[in-house]
Amino acid sequence: MIAKTVSESAKRGMRGREGVVEKQDESTSIAEEASRGVPLLLHACCGPCSIEPVLHLRQEGFEPTICWTNPNIAPRSEHDLRLRTLMQWARDVAHVRVIVADEDSAAWEAGVAPFGLDRARRCRACYAQRLATTCRTAVDQGFSYVSTTLAVSPYQLFDSCHDVLSQLAAHFGLTSVWRDFRPYYPDATKCSRELQMYRQNYCGCRFSAAEAAISRQELRDARKAARARARAQRTFDQDLFVCGR
Ligand code: SF4
Repeated sequence: MIAKTVSESAKRGMRGREGVVEKQDESTSIAEEASRGVPLLLHACCGPCSIEPVLHLRQEGFEPTICWTNPNIAPRSEHDLRLRTLMQWARDVAHVRVIVADEDSAAWEAGVAPFGLDRARRCRACYAQRLATTCRTAVDQGFSYVSTTLAVSPYQLFDSCHDVLSQLAAHFGLTSVWRDFRPYYPDATKCSRELQMYRQNYCGCRFSAAEAAISRQELRDARKAARARARAQRTFDQDLFVCGR
């Protein structure tokens, strides 16, 4: 179980008639979704990042179906944990359908990994692979609208991702629904904590795991240096006080 009790803010991600949470019907079809709202295929990178986009897209009149395609996530155990977290939330809380699409890890290694620590080029190529699979899935499954939860995290390269999705959507004859969900990132953090969802501390690939570990270490070093400076200042002030008596 993700959570035994769900607070008001956690309920924000739920769908229901007049506030009543509905159980997901596993045979839900696109036609049935159309009666709830305009069907839209939403690429999702993880459960926590899906909370606010699903809520806000529903408020706009869309009915999202989530598309999972993230061959970037390493190691495999981390990939499976994020997918499991998303599936549980989608089934038990948000009542949203999930399509697990193709994931070509070999293509990711060949087309993205060679960019290594060149983050701008690496992330753009990574967005392109995942969003191309999402767009192909959308066409196969009869969707006209596509979006992505990548637009909620302030850690993503927002403009680059927007550009990639716009170009791909146009190429596949789809409409890109691009929204700036970043102002809702704190709400997503709060809600996912309340739901006791697994929350990762790096984007997904092994490069991002290393970059995040370096950033955390730099932060720790900066805090340590600040504390040392404050201690030195206190000692200096005390010495002045003693000398000035
Ligand atoms: S940092 Fe994230 S978006 Fe960029 S390449 Fe790695 S997994 Fe992909």
